[in-house]
Amino acid sequence: GGKIKAKDREEKLYVTVRVRPLSSKEVAQGETVDWDCTNEHTISFKHSQPERSPYPSSYTFDRVFGPDCPTKQVYNEGAKQVALSALTGINSTIFAYGQTSSGKTYTMRGIVESAVIDVYNHIQKTQEREFVLKISGLEIYNEVVKDLLNPDSGPLRLLDDPDRGTVVEKLKEEIVRDYDHLQQMIRICEVQRQVGETMLNDTSSRSHQIIRLTLESYPRGVPDGSPFKSLIASLNFVDLAGSERASQTLAEGSRLKEGCHINRSLLTLSSVIRKLSGGSKSKSGHIPYRDSKLTRILQHSLGGNARTAIICTMCPAHSHVEQTRNTLAFATRAK
Ligand code: ADP
Ligand code: MG
Repeated sequence: GGKIKAKDREEKLYVTVRVRPLSSKEVAQGETVDWDCTNEHTISFKHSQPERSPYPSSYTFDRVFGPDCPTKQVYNEGAKQVALSALTGINSTIFAYGQTSSGKTYTMRGIVESAVIDVYNHIQKTQEREFVLKISGLEIYNEVVKDLLNPDSGPLRLLDDPDRGTVVEKLKEEIVRDYDHLQQMIRICEVQRQVGETMLNDTSSRSHQIIRLTLESYPRGVPDGSPFKSLIASLNFVDLAGSERASQTLAEGSRLKEGCHINRSLLTLSSVIRKLSGGSKSKSGHIPYRDSKLTRILQHSLGGNARTAIICTMCPAHSHVEQTRNTLAFATRAK
């Protein structure tokens, strides 16, 4: 029946909202807060709205994390299940979505930190399977793919492999030797992204960063050719470009012509997620994975059996209300 279906979908796509606190600067500037976290699932607009307002006065999600909620709890209740499913051979992705300065990078750093501890501990503890853990990191800026672990390599091409689907040609994949090595690789990805940020003014708002763990495992101590299967899955951590890059409308046509204000990967991701969540009427319709680099790279980690967590970050300040509504509308469509 319908109930089982709904539950099934919830497990595959888990949508949460995280509200950041106002910064001391925002407080000093006299910013006010427009939003209340009414309960664990609901966020409400504080003020009364005109009767014909096109905006809902409250929104409901799998989980709403208020401004006092630590990242560890956001991880435990918003991402952990998805992260751990990669250990069982299920491709998994955790996204941070939101406007620039809403807390995507802050949140994703903490999520990566907690998830790698869990994944690494699990691998250490598991006697019956032997794991090979690999890490890679890439950035998509203006539909150009760059290797964060091998920054001098220049733009990377995407290839269609008959067995593996879309692969990023020549992307460096490090086999993780130990926990320190893993931490070191994650740090290199972060530093590399910051280098790009200073060179090309403000890339963090325009670029997508993916840290990918690949988990392969084999049963230990079984003879060759036995029916026990090897498993392989990827676990992707995606810090998306600022969502304002998807929401500027065509009314701003003059800016559109300038080029990279609208982000193709982000727009395509929105429509892929909308279709996957069944929000689009044309259920049989084709899913436009191939329309952007981001969705091609993540194709096998979105839809099908894959598990996805989307953490939508927002700043509750009054001056951000328009972007925040866009974020909440995106999150609502993704549910
Ligand atoms: P984004 O990546 O979305 O542009 P950042 O993660 O860089 O935004 O966050 C913007 C600023 O807000 C940073 O100074 C960050 O430390 C701070 N911040 C974000 N989220 C939180 C939070 N939940 N608690 C405290 N500070 C936060
Ligand atoms: Mg950021």
